[in-house]
Amino acid sequence: MIQISFDRSLACAREMDLVDDLARFRSRFYIPKGKIYMDGNSLGLLSRDAEKEVERAMREWKEYAIGGWTQGDPPWFYLGEELGRRMAPLLGAEPDEVVAAGSTTVNLHALVSSFYRPREKRTCILADELNFPSDIYALRSQVRLRGLDPDQHLILVPDRDGRFLCEEEIISHMTDEVAVCVLPSVLYRSGQLLDMEKIAAAARDRGILLGFDLSHSVGAVPHLLDEWDVDFAFWCTYKYLNSGPGGIAGLYVNRKHFDREPGLAGWWGSDKREQFDMHLQFCSARSAGAWQIGTVSVLSAAPLLGSLRLFAEAGMDQVRAKSQRMTSYLIQLVDDQLSGEPHGCQVGTPREAERRGGHVAVEHPDARRIARALRARGVVPDFRPPDVIRLAPAALYNSFSEVHSVVRQIREILDAREYERFGPDGPPVS
Ligand SMILES: *Cc1c(COP(=O)(O)O)cnc(C)c1O
Repeated sequence: MIQISFDRSLACAREMDLVDDLARFRSRFYIPKGKIYMDGNSLGLLSRDAEKEVERAMREWKEYAIGGWTQGDPPWFYLGEELGRRMAPLLGAEPDEVVAAGSTTVNLHALVSSFYRPREKRTCILADELNFPSDIYALRSQVRLRGLDPDQHLILVPDRDGRFLCEEEIISHMTDEVAVCVLPSVLYRSGQLLDMEKIAAAARDRGILLGFDLSHSVGAVPHLLDEWDVDFAFWCTYKYLNSGPGGIAGLYVNRKHFDREPGLAGWWGSDKREQFDMHLQFCSARSAGAWQIGTVSVLSAAPLLGSLRLFAEAGMDQVRAKSQRMTSYLIQLVDDQLSGEPHGCQVGTPREAERRGGHVAVEHPDARRIARALRARGVVPDFRPPDVIRLAPAALYNSFSEVHSVVRQIREILDAREYERFGPDGPPVS
């Protein structure tokens, strides 16, 4: 377990910024003017690198028109595969096991429709009560599509206290009625990072196929999907990977499943050599590329080329190390300055750095209004009901001084009861 002690002075924060090897990446991003942006776990910031790639894609479209499919750099025809190859190191996968395609929820459907084959006694999907609602809606509909009742065939592992899941409890639900298990790597509210290796070993021992939703870990936490022997995974790229709103998503299929028939087939999953032969017989690629459905969205994929370059330069291990230092620092400041009376905040994220992702959940009964008061001051957090302020110090563009400032500002808001000026209603997205 990593334990670091920080002192609470601003000088200490500045000192850490001075010796931070990743500080140089901040100037490659557009930081909204006058703001402290701590919402990279919802929407990462635009980098100059990503912007350049969008401009390049636009130029290619202007100059080459249809020729861009082969003349683009990289050729648009292979863009999903090429992005997969470049994402693979972040997943601990081989280049052909990863592809950029579709969106998170669509990829969940594409994968679960291929891996969920209810048979005899094994008819259930195992998920959890703390997963992102979209995943649960999708899984329920997958069960319904097989003519089964989701109330009986979608099993949800109960949470402990609204915050955390216990790996042992998940494993105890892996009965021989479970066909497929789909879990998040990092819980979107509390930030708990599950022990994926342990869960994967248990699933394999019990003959259960296992998929992970990596939306909250990709770009924040390194993965070893091949080594852990995970069956499939999917993720969005617009959070820690900074690919832009609704940017193209990603998926992973372990190569031992390359023979499997995609459940939602489409021509973009064809063997590239035969795709334009236009046979009515689908000849699927022997790679994760087979799980693509339709034409790659070139303009929403372009920014990812730029933002992945930043990760390649910085190194995922360095990104994780700084992220853990920042979240440890944040937790320590909250414990030290905001917890207990009179401030009443509580950390709702595991305290062991290796058991959390890239954000920290600060709980307070008035969290919604405190988040609003922070926004009025130019700090961008987000709020998740019922009582969580999520703060995500991103390794590539946030500083320790910013973390220090956010905690100081929460304390000021609480001391002056500034949040009482804000009503409970707000915009639909926050
Ligand atoms: C962000 C997120 C999604 C988002 O799904 P989209 O299809 O991209 O809208 C899904 N699942 C989890 C766990 C997420 O964190």
